[in-house]
Amino acid sequence: MQLPRFTVIFLILPWMAFCQQTPKSPAMNEQKFPIEKEEGEWKQILDSDQYRVLRQKGTEAPHTSRYNMHFEDGIYHCVGCNAPLFAGENKFDAHCGWPSFDQPVSDTAVVEIPDNSHGMRRTEVVCGNCGGHLGHVFPDGPRETTGMRYCINGVILDFK
Ligand SMILES: [Zn+2]
Repeated sequence: MQLPRFTVIFLILPWMAFCQQTPKSPAMNEQKFPIEKEEGEWKQILDSDQYRVLRQKGTEAPHTSRYNMHFEDGIYHCVGCNAPLFAGENKFDAHCGWPSFDQPVSDTAVVEIPDNSHGMRRTEVVCGNCGGHLGHVFPDGPRETTGMRYCINGVILDFK
């Protein structure tokens, strides 16, 4: 019964190649991350707001996150995969309405990807472990430290 399976692969391969020529989110399609799940699995783990941000690159409304004005010692983890992303000591009040950090908790915690969507040149920040969308990084952070502002959706953070 090997023959039908090969037939299916031959039918699917050209279709996959075609789809990859017009990727909607090239970063997620091209880059491999340690944690990979089917969309159905993500929907079981995440609530609808978390799914919209983490898996569909959504943005939470400003000033709505419970972590926006939250300044405690601890680590903010990814709600999708539990990886540590940002430390409380690197959080600052950027007056922008979203939790903001001047650097990630480690060099590998996040991955930065050029994002030219919505007519803007921005740098997207995704989880280094699961590839989930976290927010964007801008070069207008505190000059006395890194000068960078990691503007992160609080809905996908879990503080511990
Ligand atoms: Zn993650």
